[in-house]
Amino acid sequence: MKMSSVKSISIVGGGLAGLTLGIGLRQRGIPVTIWEAGNYPRHRVCGEFISGNGPAVLQRLGLLERFEKAGACYARTARFFSGENRSPVRELKMPALCLSRHKMDALLADEFQRLGGELHSNSRWTGERNSEAVVHASGRRAQVTEKNPRWFGVKAHAPDGDGLKLEADLEMHISRDGYVGVNRINGGVVNVCGLFRVRDGARRPESKQDWLRGEENSSLRRRIGAAVFDANSFCSVAGLRLQPQRASEKDECCIGDAVTMTPPVTGNGMSMALESAEIAIEPLAAFSEGRWTWQEARQEIARRCDDAFVRRLAWARWLQRMMMSSTLQGPLGAVLLRSDWLWRLMFARTR
Ligand SMILES: Cc1cc2nc3c(=O)[nH]c(=O)nc-3n(C[C@H](O)[C@H](O)[C@H](O)COP(=O)(O)OP(=O)(O)OC[C@H]3O[C@@H](n4cnc5c(N)ncnc54)[C@H](O)[C@@H]3O)c2cc1C
Repeated sequence: MKMSSVKSISIVGGGLAGLTLGIGLRQRGIPVTIWEAGNYPRHRVCGEFISGNGPAVLQRLGLLERFEKAGACYARTARFFSGENRSPVRELKMPALCLSRHKMDALLADEFQRLGGELHSNSRWTGERNSEAVVHASGRRAQVTEKNPRWFGVKAHAPDGDGLKLEADLEMHISRDGYVGVNRINGGVVNVCGLFRVRDGARRPESKQDWLRGEENSSLRRRIGAAVFDANSFCSVAGLRLQPQRASEKDECCIGDAVTMTPPVTGNGMSMALESAEIAIEPLAAFSEGRWTWQEARQEIARRCDDAFVRRLAWARWLQRMMMSSTLQGPLGAVLLRSDWLWRLMFARTR
């Protein structure tokens, strides 16, 4: 195929989905430009825990070794806490890959450019959403209307030291107003990341640190109350929209959170970003090489994304509701948290 007959692809958003797609297309020699509003490296609100099919996608694209060389570690066990209830320490069926987004996004941006991709950072794309040859990997869409309760996320890093002793590679501390996940990542660091719902009129912690440290006398406060957070790593997001959406309902070509955001409690959003990027490579290559029209490529990507994710999203939504219901803190919660059957079912269905 002569280069002149190959159409180039523009990707809006240089996060996980956009950069991975860009790399996959460059590996096939397709010209690609990525527009990224921010810069690298940067901290992101994220549990930094890639669970499910994500590591396999990275391996197929030849990226897993780069992650491991950057210091990524594997989480193999998890423990859940809710009020005074707690699960046993459980083995994860598939180990999760843990690396800071600070390193991860920069590593992918480097690889994309090494392969000859054109990356415009600090450049917000403002063109028509449904233009031909434009893929939206621009991340979650903000909730425009004010809702009650409202969701927001906070994360920070702390050294894995004296103030912080984990009983499992991932600890999830659940309360009625959200949850905080604590897991080891690269470089002797622990990531502390929470998703919270704020109700009108409810009492709120005074600072982001206080949100992450949990309520007085909670299992979370006992665990990380003395942690010393790295002030530079603090970040937060608000206006999260957690209702699942379908790719086939959209006019434009989307991947990753731009299609829909899965409830973060599943730890599967990054995997879905990677999987949807991989799904999009072949249809976009077929368009670029003139074998498919744009319409055919766009519809095929949407169909394959919906096939892969719709059922998973429905289970994820149910899981999130259950996790944040008061049931989990009562006597029934003690039984549910100890149930191996429920654990296996939820793990399998949400990834
Ligand atoms: C509290 C919380 C905890 C989470 N924990 C986990 C976890 O443990 N495991 C997991 O797998 N997932 C987790 N996630 C989800 C995960 O972070 C996302 O699913 C993932 O980042 C999606 O990747 P993406 O590339 O689609 O979007 P993003 O990573 O958000 O990237 C989108 C990019 O697009 C850019 N952009 C947007 N608009 C434009 C524009 N007009 N022009 C140019 N650039 C633009 C943005 O700057 C951004 O860099 C969590 C999310 C939250 C909120």
